[in-house]
Amino acid sequence: MHLRIGVMGGTFDPIHHGHLVAASEVAHRFSLDSIIFTPAGEPWHKAEHTPAGGEERYLMAVAATANDPRFEVSRVDIERPGPTYTVDTIADLQKAFASTQPHDTAEWFFITGADALAGVNGWRDPQHLLESVHLIGVTRPGHVLIDPGLPEGAFSLVEIPALAISSTDIRSRVATGAPISYLVPDAVEHLIAKFELYQPTSGKQAHAGIG
Ligand code: ATP
Ligand code: MG
Repeated sequence: MHLRIGVMGGTFDPIHHGHLVAASEVAHRFSLDSIIFTPAGEPWHKAEHTPAGGEERYLMAVAATANDPRFEVSRVDIERPGPTYTVDTIADLQKAFASTQPHDTAEWFFITGADALAGVNGWRDPQHLLESVHLIGVTRPGHVLIDPGLPEGAFSLVEIPALAISSTDIRSRVATGAPISYLVPDAVEHLIAKFELYQPTSGKQAHAGIG
């Protein structure tokens, strides 16, 4: 079988409907068989530790994607020690694919919002990354989707339904008691409450793990 596999990297702190719409729309437009969400380990481009730990971000991603058969969540990034680089994410996923599905082949796509796409040339080994995936940049409110200066044919720019949602805004909403219903899936809202994430008084904000 020849598969078309999308990968969506991110901190997912927490995962929200902006991520899910981006993945769903790209899956449709590019006829992808599946999308693998890869919650980052230690985000190298973010100065502070993430407020939620890797396991919590992973569980929220699993809960958010549970009822969509196209969506999967991978632990490759939260299990790899050290900072997360997309080129390593893809290498690990491709290695796992080759060993678990030795009779299948795959074409790989990496999905990124307009804000992240603008910095792609600063990622580790972008040349190698572009040999392994086709990059798909999607529109995001508040950011201009422009040609990131990559070789023609290496990337596509796609307009998706606009959702002005960010994890940063959700974290500050939780901290101030503002509603997050309809911005994140119900299951994510429940896990945020259960794990007491993003509370101004929560000691967990300072940690990058749950235990
Ligand atoms: P934070 O505010 O903590 O940076 P975020 O909302 O930007 O969180 P990330 O986990 O940083 O979420 O993003 C993962 C990927 O999803 C990135 O490529 C980002 O550009 C994209 N993305 C996030 N939110 C949206 C959105 N509302 N519309 C389109 N793309 C999005
Ligand atoms: Mg972001």
